[in-house]
Amino acid sequence: MHRPELLAPAGNMEKLKIAVHYGADAVYLGGQSFGLRNKADNFSVDEMKAALDFCHAKNVKAYLTINSYPRNESLPELEDYLAQIAPLPFDAYIVADPGVIDAVRQASPECELHLSTQANTINWRSARFWQQQGVRRINLAREMSLDNIKETVTKVPGMEFEAFVHGALCISYSGRCLISSMLTGRDANQGECTHPCRWSYHLVEESRPGEYFPVVEDENGTFIFNSRDLCLLEHIPALVKSGVHALKIEGRMKGINYVASVLRVYRQALDEYLADPAAWTCRPEWLEELAKLSHRGYTTGFLFGQPRNVGQEYESAYIRSHDFVGVVDEVQGDGTLLISVRNRIKAGDLIEFIGPGMRNDSLTLQHFSTLSERGAAIPAEVANPNQRILLTVPFTVETGDLLRREKIAG
Ligand code: SF4
Repeated sequence: MHRPELLAPAGNMEKLKIAVHYGADAVYLGGQSFGLRNKADNFSVDEMKAALDFCHAKNVKAYLTINSYPRNESLPELEDYLAQIAPLPFDAYIVADPGVIDAVRQASPECELHLSTQANTINWRSARFWQQQGVRRINLAREMSLDNIKETVTKVPGMEFEAFVHGALCISYSGRCLISSMLTGRDANQGECTHPCRWSYHLVEESRPGEYFPVVEDENGTFIFNSRDLCLLEHIPALVKSGVHALKIEGRMKGINYVASVLRVYRQALDEYLADPAAWTCRPEWLEELAKLSHRGYTTGFLFGQPRNVGQEYESAYIRSHDFVGVVDEVQGDGTLLISVRNRIKAGDLIEFIGPGMRNDSLTLQHFSTLSERGAAIPAEVANPNQRILLTVPFTVETGDLLRREKIAG
């Protein structure tokens, strides 16, 4: 059976390593310009080299996003940037703007081109047009239904297609949105979205400025632009059968906890389906795992037609049941774990260790040591963010595994 690639976000080097650890077949990352996620940490040219070495040593592909829509005045900077990255062996550039494609052709004529979802491909004629321009792969717009995806894949043989399976959704077509630009002066199409679609809104009658009519859906207010997040886990079989070449996870600005949890679920679900399609069912523990992450309620988006009101999150902005508290930096020779603490932990906390392959083990914290700046181990009962601790556990843990704790109420 044809095996789609599982494509994961890599907002910085740590997230990239986590994505690889948790089973990504390919990652996408941005440089410090033109990548539409200016608030992600992103990669300098030197970091890109290190990222490519790391990925290629593990047989993972790496794609560079250059998917903003630059204005004339930005073109000289774009050309400089393309010249700097031209020697780097990216497996593809992800582009949207025809002007960027033209500039890439000059700077890196051999580099494979993937068309970003920002280019809004929603029909097979568009796909065929882009194929004629030499584009190798298209990340289809999230606004496409499953039937449309299948028809497009069938009618444009030789083109590769990607479909989003998980992550945030915009209320505008493929993020072509002016709300952020209008309210904050930060242009989503230049990678500076401030996410005002998630804010709470009131109604004001034109002749009564300053009188805010509350539009109350619940005690949290109203979130009239607030889309639920996409989750197509249960529809992996249909997506694989549609013939798409890659299943893409959104979220370069999300944390490593998100990258790890989403990937380990989709990795196992996809592998199990490919191994035995007839026996596949969507396991409840996969959905439970996704429910533990910070999200805004899940929707299947446009996969089965217009989402209408079921795609909107009416209740509250975010739902999350667990806090991410640390990452295993190293498993030392004697099995002691060196852990970076990301959220305060203390003796008595029930900590869950999660790893690839849905590996889960739990432990009530008792004895651990914090590390002083000079590397001395100091017995401790509490550790704060940015501290490192030494801990032994009675089960197998790997470097890159994450620690989390059920969210403390209040
Ligand atoms: S404001 Fe919301 S809908 Fe608009 S681009 Fe940003 S995330 Fe998307």
